[in-house]
Formats: sequence, structure tokens, C-alpha cells
Amino acid sequence: MNEIEKQARELLVNRRRAILQLFEKNSSAERELFEAPRSPDWADRALAEKDTTVLHNVSEGERIELNEIEASLRRIEAGTYGDCEQCGSRIGRQRLRAIPEARRCISCTEALARP
Ligand SMILES: [Zn+2]
Repeated sequence: MNEIEKQARELLVNRRRAILQLFEKNSSAERELFEAPRSPDWADRALAEKDTTVLHNVSEGERIELNEIEASLRRIEAGTYGDCEQCGSRIGRQRLRAIPEARRCISCTEALARP
């Protein structure tokens, strides 16, 4: 494992831990919401349902990020970390430092972003 991989691994593991803690908080907040005695008043109910939606939206974004992090950690283990998924060239130290879970080099990312 080289220096870039070591640094990335540390960042990714820390980020994963933070997201998992967020999930914990989210799911206990959801539990409270569901276990709270339901008021027959529709306004209260609507409010409770809106809150649940927000929680789901938050966790969806985090879930995607968590997938990216897991994939990066697997690439580090496999020794393919830092190789562009698209063209196979090196992603580059600076880019990896900015985005440790980057899958593609800057030119492939830009090519994909172009309409
Ligand atoms: Zn590329």
C-alpha cells in the first residue's frame, strides 16, 4: 500500500464511520417518529410524515456516498485504486487528495459531463 492509498484509506474509513453514525441517528429519529403515539389531528400527522421524508432524503444521499466509499476501499484492497475506470490511466495524486472516492481521471469526468 503506497502513501496515497494509506491516506485515502484513512479518510475513507473516517468518512464511513461518520456516515454510519448519521444512519444510527437517522434511524433512531425515525423510530421515535413511528413509535410516537399518533395524534388524530391531521396537521400533526402531516408534519410527522414530512419529517420522515426529509430523513429518507438525507439517508439516500449518504447511502450513495457510502457505496462509493466501500467501492474505493475495495479498490485499495485490490490494488487498483487510483486507476481510471474509463481509460485506465492514473487519476492523479492531487485529484485523489481532493476526492478520495474518485473513479475516473479528470479528462474522463469532463468528457462525461459534456452533453
Ligand atoms: Zn480516464
